[in-house]
Amino acid sequence: MALTLTVDGDRWRSHLRGVADANPGLVPVVKGNGYGFTPGRLARKSEWLGVDTIAVGTYEELPGVASRFGGSLLVLTPWRPFVADLPPELAGRVIHTVGRVEDVDALLTRQPGARLVLELLTSMKRHGFTARGLWDAAEHLRRHRSARLEGVALHLPLAQGSHLGEVRRLMNDAVGAGLQHLGQPGPDGQPGRGGLDTVWVSHLTAGEQAALRTSYADFTIRPRMGTDLWLGDRAALTVTATVLDVHEVERGDSFGYRGRTVPKAGHLLVVSGGTAHGIGLEAPTGDSSIKARAATLARGGLDAVGFVRSPFSIDDKQRLFAEPPHMQASMLFLPSGARVPTVGDEIDVRVRYTATTFDRIVLS
Ligand SMILES: *Cc1c(COP(=O)(O)O)cnc(C)c1O
Repeated sequence: MALTLTVDGDRWRSHLRGVADANPGLVPVVKGNGYGFTPGRLARKSEWLGVDTIAVGTYEELPGVASRFGGSLLVLTPWRPFVADLPPELAGRVIHTVGRVEDVDALLTRQPGARLVLELLTSMKRHGFTARGLWDAAEHLRRHRSARLEGVALHLPLAQGSHLGEVRRLMNDAVGAGLQHLGQPGPDGQPGRGGLDTVWVSHLTAGEQAALRTSYADFTIRPRMGTDLWLGDRAALTVTATVLDVHEVERGDSFGYRGRTVPKAGHLLVVSGGTAHGIGLEAPTGDSSIKARAATLARGGLDAVGFVRSPFSIDDKQRLFAEPPHMQASMLFLPSGARVPTVGDEIDVRVRYTATTFDRIVLS
């Protein structure tokens, strides 16, 4: 009685292994709903992959993964002064992302030995330092002797042509700000505190990464990946819902929360999966351009009698919602003539994984 994600384990694991092999220094991203798999499961899978660092989205996500993965934990959301201090057992494992000059001082005053990466503002314009700000950040870092600079981070837009020009410009900014020399031993002969030798990136192709490794041989390139890693082989994943009830209806019968009447004879099906699972909240294709949405509507988002197309399919045909999804179940309308499934049957569902909560995950 569930919305179920079934994973072909051998196929999924061999895909994960292939991605890890093709992307040296891989940092699996396990944020949010864990791309449908839950963050805890992805943390364990990352341990199995043998990586040394995973990335979470927020500080709040740390407790859910920290006991399932033993390595370093990069937090993608930039640190701010209102973030609570970390418990001592986590403090040494967490790598903070810092994106404002004032936060460099504030973080290192609170946690002098903090590990941090400096995020650079990319064409995404989300978070991070400009070239000028990076210069100031380097000044501040010089005053905090025990800080551990773990590199710079770039969050690039989803590929639209090559990112290399932008990455080169940003790396030159970072080198220009003198961050590299932060890692040199101080005059007191103390060992280095880390420096700018690592660049954490997202959304670079393997080819772009290879080009950067060639141009910047002194640097370690660390690709952060979520979607292409966990969801990169869709054929390994099957999503099904259970048929919970079936009612034969005649034209004019009323049904549902709003007492709507059936426009023509057929069957009402009640299937598992509703708004609580994320069903019906999003266009399932993930293609959300205005043009695509307009096309969906035009192409029969609504059928002739006003029903909306659902993500549930029976016999390879996407079926209609009889009314908007309920919290844990959905009502579908099946016109007469179609094969009628029986209670307990499983039917296919197309979902947007990053917005779906499954009742059950079956991993073979
Ligand atoms: C989510 C996220 C990623 C991973 O993105 P995918 O498209 O899922 O691979 C990488 N870096 C940052 C900063 C992110 O927020």
